[in-house]
Amino acid sequence: PLLQAAGLMPPRVLIIAGSDSGGGAGLQADLKSCTVLGAFGTTAVTALTAQNSRGVQGILPISIDFLKQQLESVLSDLGTDVVKTGMLATADIVKAVASSLQELAPGKMLVVDPVMVSTSGHTLLQEDAIQCVKEQLFPLATLITPNLPEASLLLGRSISSVPEMEQAVRDLAAMGPRWVLLKGGHLKEGAEEAIDILCDGQESIAFKSAMIPTTHSHGTGCTLASSIAALLARGLEVPEAVQEAKDFVSGAIACSAKLALGSGPQGPMN
Ligand code: PLP
Repeated sequence: PLLQAAGLMPPRVLIIAGSDSGGGAGLQADLKSCTVLGAFGTTAVTALTAQNSRGVQGILPISIDFLKQQLESVLSDLGTDVVKTGMLATADIVKAVASSLQELAPGKMLVVDPVMVSTSGHTLLQEDAIQCVKEQLFPLATLITPNLPEASLLLGRSISSVPEMEQAVRDLAAMGPRWVLLKGGHLKEGAEEAIDILCDGQESIAFKSAMIPTTHSHGTGCTLASSIAALLARGLEVPEAVQEAKDFVSGAIACSAKLALGSGPQGPMN
């Protein structure tokens, strides 16, 4: 779609996220998803990670001034239709992102993936930053996309059933985002179906999909959120963007076990 649009402005997504040197998650996954789905991705890097298929070996947050400089450079020239946030690392970064977006991109659609801990168990958002995400970023968001462990940390309680998910989406919506997508993939080990619930604070829509048994899920959260952002930039409404992005990610998970990349989960060295 990008190439066909010669002379036209492509749908644009500004990705504010951490770098995954292994290329599976973070801004690398975000950029690839945007490209495949026909949007032009720009980036403001929040942190570098030294990472591979086995896990995270190191994290280096970017200075606040340089993060702001990247946002200023992109937004003062290229502009954007949608902003997507991923790994934000520290409370100071969350505060800088919230204030820069209010100043430089007021009213823009914003997809917040509240990344907190990697599947491999590494902290990607410091604990004292969680409150800042709730208070400063959620009220600006068009959509937030927590998984169950993230929603539990945000709400301070465990969520272990579909009725508890229904209550959780309402409580998360009360924190200010226009929509909440609560991803239920962690609900029951061995379940045949995964349930995600999308809620605008009043009505909720359940998305059911077959659970694909795999350990190759690294980067699926980033990919889903940035796919939704790309589809919103292309003009889809939130429920349609969520459905289409879910189909895209399900297709990627179904193919993932065939990729011989790294020795990571279930690889020859594990
Ligand atoms: N690294 C970065 C930079 C990320 O943004 C994320 C998730 O958002 C991860 C790693 C973790 O990915 P996963 O939990 O899918 O392994």
